[in-house]
Amino acid sequence: MGHGVVIFEANEELGGMMRYGIPSYRTPRDMLAFEIDRIIETGVEVRLGVRVGKDVSVAELEGSFDAIFWAIGAQKGRPLPVPGWEADGCLTGAEFLDAFNHGWVFSTAKRIVVVGGGDTSIDVASVARRLGHVTTPHRHDTIGHGVVGYTAQDVTGSLRREGVRATLTSLFPIEKMTAAEREREDALREGVDIRGGVMPIAVLTNAQGIVCGIRLCECTMQGARPVPKPDTEFEIACDIVVSAIGQMGDLEGLGDLDNGKGFIEIEPGYKARKGTKHFAGGDIIRPHLLTTAIGHGRIAAETINQFLASGSLDKRPKVDVHHFNLLEELHQRNLKPTKYDAGQVRGTADSQWAIHNYEDRSTSQIIPHRALFKGHFKNEQRGKRTEIHISADDVLGNFEERIQAFSEKQAIREGERCMSCGMCFECDNCVIYCPQTAVKRVPKKERAVGRYVYTDYDMCIGCHICADVCPTGYIQMGLGE
Ligand SMILES: Cc1cc2nc3c(=O)[nH]c(=O)nc-3n(C[C@H](O)[C@H](O)[C@H](O)COP(=O)(O)OP(=O)(O)OC[C@H]3O[C@@H](n4cnc5c(N)ncnc54)[C@H](O)[C@@H]3O)c2cc1C
Ligand code: SF4
Ligand code: SF4
Repeated sequence: MGHGVVIFEANEELGGMMRYGIPSYRTPRDMLAFEIDRIIETGVEVRLGVRVGKDVSVAELEGSFDAIFWAIGAQKGRPLPVPGWEADGCLTGAEFLDAFNHGWVFSTAKRIVVVGGGDTSIDVASVARRLGHVTTPHRHDTIGHGVVGYTAQDVTGSLRREGVRATLTSLFPIEKMTAAEREREDALREGVDIRGGVMPIAVLTNAQGIVCGIRLCECTMQGARPVPKPDTEFEIACDIVVSAIGQMGDLEGLGDLDNGKGFIEIEPGYKARKGTKHFAGGDIIRPHLLTTAIGHGRIAAETINQFLASGSLDKRPKVDVHHFNLLEELHQRNLKPTKYDAGQVRGTADSQWAIHNYEDRSTSQIIPHRALFKGHFKNEQRGKRTEIHISADDVLGNFEERIQAFSEKQAIREGERCMSCGMCFECDNCVIYCPQTAVKRVPKKERAVGRYVYTDYDMCIGCHICADVCPTGYIQMGLGE
């Protein structure tokens, strides 16, 4: 949209959780680097290793920039609310994965318990199974609490790597865990011991104050609240306890943006509730998925553009996604309508200032499947990516990507299954089936996406046939009901 943009990033590289949270066998780093470069090369300035709130203040940003978008994520893991949590050997999933993805960790303890049940807990347990435990090191440093780091020389030397026992516990029964089913199945196959329907009661420590186990009991869930079952307590011996029970933002030094719960409150359009020129999106408003955060960024960019142009924000559409806009499309093709002279005319059929046969329903409607003529489409099965299943015996040291991306051919085939809901895809059905030959093709030089056919209303008898045979639901009869 033509604005100057500067990204401030506390880490030494861009990518956020895609680089420092999610393991590389799920978001391959070469692909990530490619995608980031593609964006940065458009002229975005990047200041790495700069933490806002510490290295540069919010007031300085407010003084230097016209708008500020907070996409600082939920970087802080929640600690376990049980006695013993402060012991040496307790860490959060975010800390564990951050240390691993920075390349500081080459080994983990022999026995690890991860408390969670969501995707983060699966990633921690799966990474631990892959890392294994390295014995007889020449030299090691303790990173965080209880995670052992070795230098690269140590690892390439004569170290012996052995498997670790990784246990994952979840408040919900296994089949109701929040992690995706596929991730759960993979973790089980890779030898993670998953215990569902259990809650932690205390972290156990030895005489030196170091973690030696965790006490749990069985529980039932009342909504999101676990209720312990009496007389079901048991212990699991372990060397590390990882809490992966959720994350929140680190808003230290960021003034009153914090809503008191570690998140930033927003209004429609991703405008932060506090501060006039502040916007926010991604995990810092509600932890969710990569695609969600990327979508927030896209919509926020539109709102910021509008804010910079007019100082105010328009109401966002009901279906707040990227919309097709015929006027923009015509503009790009040098086909934009002529100026409206505001004189009295009878009918608009011959007027070049009016757009005929087009009503933008995209901001208010999702085209329901009932509006499609599904008989037009063959039933094409969804294409599936090839998955590599790793057994418990093969997992040690295996950091290969498990889900293979589509080949170009597969991707094209998958794209071809698109039914183009609500948008004309130039199939000619309406032209062929109209008994009055009232539907005509727009002359070639005036065509654009979304302007392919028009109706000659002098000939149309309103029989509905064109709407019935339109596969995409593009034709809506104005006086039909
Ligand atoms: C372990 C794990 C696994 C996940 N797996 C998946 C998955 O498989 N699929 C999926 O879709 N989603 C997954 N997610 C969720 C996904 O990672 C997030 O939804 C997404 O990364 C959020 O993007 P974001 O830009 O809001 O924040 P982040 O990705 O967290 O990026 C925030 C960035 O802001 C920087 N920052 C923070 N504070 C400051 C500051 N004060 N100054 C300067 N810079 C700062 C951080 O260094 C970071 O680079 C996973 C999350 C985790 C933790
Ligand atoms: S309503 Fe009937 S007559 Fe009119 S354009 Fe459609 S098919 Fe042709
Ligand atoms: S309006 Fe519908 S039936 Fe007519 S060409 Fe477009 S998609 Fe096909």
